[in-house]
Amino acid sequence: MSEIMPAVFFGHGNPMNALARNGWTEGWAAIGASLPRPTAVVCVSAHWYLPATLVTAQTSPRTIHDFGGFPRELFEVQYPAPGSPSLARRVRELLAPAPVGLDERWGLDHGTWSVLCHVFPRADVPVVQLSIDETRPASFHYELAKRLTPLRDEGVLIVGSGNVVHNLHAYAWGRRVVEPLEWAARFDARARELLKANDHAPLVDYESLGRDATLSAPTPDHYLPLLYVVAQRRDGDEISFPVEGFDGGSISMLCVRVG
Ligand code: ZN
Repeated sequence: MSEIMPAVFFGHGNPMNALARNGWTEGWAAIGASLPRPTAVVCVSAHWYLPATLVTAQTSPRTIHDFGGFPRELFEVQYPAPGSPSLARRVRELLAPAPVGLDERWGLDHGTWSVLCHVFPRADVPVVQLSIDETRPASFHYELAKRLTPLRDEGVLIVGSGNVVHNLHAYAWGRRVVEPLEWAARFDARARELLKANDHAPLVDYESLGRDATLSAPTPDHYLPLLYVVAQRRDGDEISFPVEGFDGGSISMLCVRVG
């Protein structure tokens, strides 16, 4: 494999984006078209957040509709990408000595498929998901993620799916709000500055960044996938933001591409 695979963080936002064609989903499709064709995807989704590190090891992971209150057509979406038991084992080997379980029960949740159905619409790239151990601090996740970097030389696309700013309490449900809330815009801008400067320590220790950070990441689940992507950076990698903007005032749709 001559080309080093980039790593990409996607701000996934509302699950309905799976069915939508909008500026964000078109941006996701453009990212897919711009990447070298990956051999497989390892996706860290905000929605597989539990007290263990697990990796999906099925040959045919099921499409999980892990939400309620959405239209029937969203429950009918299937993303039949194959799994890759061999990649699951490779992930477990790379993350050792951290214990990693090979999982047969999960599958692809909407954090993964609502984005990948636009990035790789043919569902022909094998996908495994890696869970986020909710008992561990951000620094653990950043260091763990660094052990995955050899995958970039093996043609594997490392994906994080969450949101840099994700506050559903402040979200303008059903109302048309174009402008992001002030604290949300400030934290998004601060994260971009730190990303561009490759200043990872404050991104890892984000809880020390004050009230803007507390409001933007009131729970860690949607923020931590960013760290799995940031940790893939090597000297000389460019950092870019191929998709940006806010949904409902308090969900950042920022995408971060490393390399
Ligand atoms: Zn989500």
